Amino acid sequence: MPGQPIILSTWSLGRRANAVGWEVLSAGGSALDAVERACIAIDADPGVDSVGLGGLPDASGRVSLDGCIMLSPRRCAGVCFVREHNYPVSIARRVMEHTHHVLLAGSGADEFASREGFERCDLLTDEARKVWQKWKTDPAQLTGERYRGWLPPRNVEERRGVEGEGPGDDKQRIAADESLPHNRRHDTVGVLAIDAAGVMAGACSTSGMAFKVPGRVGDSPIIGCGLYVDPRFGAAVATGTGELLMRTCGTFLAVELMRSGRSPAQAATQVIERIIESCDIVDDHQVGLITLNPQGQWASAALRPGFRVAIRSSERDELEPASRVLLNGGEATGSLL
Ligand code: ASP
Repeated sequence: MPGQPIILSTWSLGRRANAVGWEVLSAGGSALDAVERACIAIDADPGVDSVGLGGLPDASGRVSLDGCIMLSPRRCAGVCFVREHNYPVSIARRVMEHTHHVLLAGSGADEFASREGFERCDLLTDEARKVWQKWKTDPAQLTGERYRGWLPPRNVEERRGVEGEGPGDDKQRIAADESLPHNRRHDTVGVLAIDAAGVMAGACSTSGMAFKVPGRVGDSPIIGCGLYVDPRFGAAVATGTGELLMRTCGTFLAVELMRSGRSPAQAATQVIERIIESCDIVDDHQVGLITLNPQGQWASAALRPGFRVAIRSSERDELEPASRVLLNGGEATGSLL
């Protein structure tokens, strides 16, 4: 049933993603094009250190990208551990449209991208290399905390100096943003949209955890973990500690809860509750989730404060905090291992 177009994205960078996606939706374009272009806009920006070009590398100093795109269980795909091409969501779209597969990984995904006409590129920028070199010398300099092995600090956006907050032009905001520890700035760009024809689509893109163990792949390219869309029941996209979402199939669970009659708000909250029940949560963990039903009702929930959702429709262009936050501080319930 045709409705009002809407686009929702994770974090403050989602406002920029939404602006690009909204151009597509407001001109009568498809939700699939809108979510893809929204992710491309962030992937192309070398100033965003958690997505696409300029993403922070793994512990060995190499960047690897993950992403996926989904219209329905019949039409979805992801790519992971892509090291030589940008735009994982666009590569995933080609996997969805030109193959029978759902996931391509590593050198196979890179070779596929080259065959599809994507340009090879060096994803590691000088800025990201400098941050990695600094991390290697003294990880505590970057985190301001005791080094905790491979786990980076939790995803949190500070209220001051982040895009979309307070006065000032882009340059001022970027300058203020520079003062934040690098691996706290931004995270996966996850996008959900409904177009004027009532079609729902989702996409997400990430360079994963900064300084991860080489070979690590998170939730973002995995259908049902970082993203799930079933046009009959709803869609969900996630960001944060991928391992928690992979242990619980978090976005599949959210859509399944909507299938069994829960509202988007109940579904989002119950996924975070399930994560808390099922996993050993430590201080550095964070998860943010956006849920959307086919009628355009949406909600968000997070493990901890700091997660925000960017909303764009004909009536709204805003950034707001998660409507439900399940843990308020640093109460950890388990150990890292
Ligand atoms: N979920 C992503 C991952 O674990 C990272 C993030 O959203 O910050 O790779």
